[in-house]
Amino acid sequence: MPRPLHICPFCSLHCDDVRIDEVAKHGWVANVPCDRATAGYQHAFRDALDARCGDDRCTAMEASKHAQTLLSGSIPYSLVTTGTDLDSAKQLHQLQEAGRIRVLVDETASAEAWRAAISREGTLAATLGDIRTHADVLWTIGEVDAETPRLRERIDADQKRWVQSSSLDAESLAEIAFAIRAETVPEDSGTAVTEAIRASAYLAIILGRHAFVDSEATATAEMLCKLLWHLNQKRRAVVLQLDDAATNRSVTAWQSNTVISSIAGNETRKIDLRLGTPPDGARPVRLQIGGIDRGKAFAEVFLPASTIGIHRDAVVVRGDGTVTLPLVAVTASVQPTPIERLHQWITA
Ligand code: SF4
Repeated sequence: MPRPLHICPFCSLHCDDVRIDEVAKHGWVANVPCDRATAGYQHAFRDALDARCGDDRCTAMEASKHAQTLLSGSIPYSLVTTGTDLDSAKQLHQLQEAGRIRVLVDETASAEAWRAAISREGTLAATLGDIRTHADVLWTIGEVDAETPRLRERIDADQKRWVQSSSLDAESLAEIAFAIRAETVPEDSGTAVTEAIRASAYLAIILGRHAFVDSEATATAEMLCKLLWHLNQKRRAVVLQLDDAATNRSVTAWQSNTVISSIAGNETRKIDLRLGTPPDGARPVRLQIGGIDRGKAFAEVFLPASTIGIHRDAVVVRGDGTVTLPLVAVTASVQPTPIERLHQWITA
């Protein structure tokens, strides 16, 4: 009997159609048309991973001790994560309440700017299902494909008109906004975007990583909010920004009625620990626990851990914040989970 389809734990889209088979001599194999997922599954199924101190492989005990030496006197440790499952998020919150760590979400300046803008101005958010069913025009801004490689497939983008902008600066967006209000054609690169927006009955704007130029993120995000209100006078216009840390944000809000801190906008803040794989361009930390080890440039010390959703059941909030999904374990692991490893390390 075929195994039930698996929910992928490797990005906030959480595709629910991954086929996993056990193949003689090869162990577990995931069948999914996604490079990010393929790398994640291959890494997780390898399981018996080495710890690392600097450039050298070592035992987990040696790595743990080395990190203790590097971080002695740093309590509360600053800990960054792109996002975790529900139980880990609760435990991180408890460790923060106990004064052992300070939790920060690893997100770009534009993601933080958009969140701040909509908290002031409000916006019309949309779910993946809304966009798939209703949108006739998609405008993607920033790096959407690298972050969520199957997003276009999941919202039937091939059936819709679609335009793309790289990171937007305030001037480019102002030109587009002016052209739409004045019903003129913008001077340069915004022509295709402006035409597509004008032709839309239901416009979905999808914000990827680095949607706005970092130095102008706040102004650009506010301008986009205002453009949305204008667009909604004549058509439906919504925004989707998938959030890797949707689960952690929800837990912090439920448990303490506060907003979880972000790494964005404070380049000088010292970061001690990372839970999970560092994204491209991530700041280096002293100790990384779990995820893919990307080397010394990302973490001085690496402690391996099992993978949530592969080796352990878990629950996550999907990146559009609308549904809670069960992640189901496929196989057992010799490693503790990242949050168990963190507890072991902190109490050692
Ligand atoms: S898009 Fe994300 S959730 Fe979907 S298969 Fe790829 S990594 Fe997994």
